[in-house]
Amino acid sequence: MIPPIANNFVAGETPEEALDHVSALNDRGVKGILNLLGEHYEKRENADADADAYVDLVNEIGARDLDACISIKPSQIGLEISDAAFAENLARIVDAADCFVWIDMEDHPTTDVTLDNFERHATATDGNVGVCVQANLKRTGDDLERLAALPGKVRLVKGAYDEPANIAYREKSKVDEVYKQYLSFMFEEFDDGIAVGSHDPEMIEYATELHDEHGTPFEIQMLTGVREDAQFELAADYEVYQYIPYGNKWFSYFYRRVRERKENLLFALRAVVGR
Ligand code: FAD
Repeated sequence: MIPPIANNFVAGETPEEALDHVSALNDRGVKGILNLLGEHYEKRENADADADAYVDLVNEIGARDLDACISIKPSQIGLEISDAAFAENLARIVDAADCFVWIDMEDHPTTDVTLDNFERHATATDGNVGVCVQANLKRTGDDLERLAALPGKVRLVKGAYDEPANIAYREKSKVDEVYKQYLSFMFEEFDDGIAVGSHDPEMIEYATELHDEHGTPFEIQMLTGVREDAQFELAADYEVYQYIPYGNKWFSYFYRRVRERKENLLFALRAVVGR
């Protein structure tokens, strides 16, 4: 059982709870991106088990006719075991999925192999796969040039990993500046869709201005439990997806949300006390 303090950020421990959460969101105009919590597996059987769980999940999304897709961490399905394990499990999931498949981006040693696997599947499925890129990495400008020529959607985030200064911008103001530069490039150069993976009102406002100027399709993506009122308001005018973590590995995920923003703990406490 997930304690009330954490369950604002996680949709439950079981796929059924997560799918019910999507169904309730869909009723209010918000679409779902389901993420089974798990990462950094060192044993093949754990990576295979989560890949199996994703195959079951995409089948359930189809069976329940939900407006939902999935998002997978490469190290959850085998990247820390071998490139081949990751590639095999990803192929298995993409083959099984009628819904869209996102690939999350982890720390910088994984960027090349993640982009290569994205390219393979985005090309083979004619764009039914998306990948995340991180504005804090100095290489991302070059990566976006490569991605602009490919089918599939690209999610731009600020970057969640603590990367070294020789390869990453570490000052928040600099990351915000390049995030906007990359958004401008994407709205000019991308045809297949852009995902703004941010809770930042300034970035979202900027994306809506670029959309008005260029007409490029885009969606806004935010996490479960973060600015949910804004998610529902924005969904009246734009495509909004909620990224929905679920599963029994909720503790480290909740801990990360609190560590990156202390207000999240206050918010969670208020939600518990107000119940
Ligand atoms: P921040 O820079 O953290 O905050 C900017 C402003 O946003 C704040 O001043 C405030 O106004 C508002 N805000 C932020 N958080 C809150 C809050 N809790 N409550 C109220 N207002 C708030 N990172 C990766 O490295 N790889 C991934 O694959 C990845 N996928 C992601 C998918 C989604 C859908 C999202 C939303 C994020 C993902 N991230 C990923 C995380 C991302 O890199 C950032 O670490 C995270 O989103 C925080 O940055 P931010 O842009 O939301 O805003």
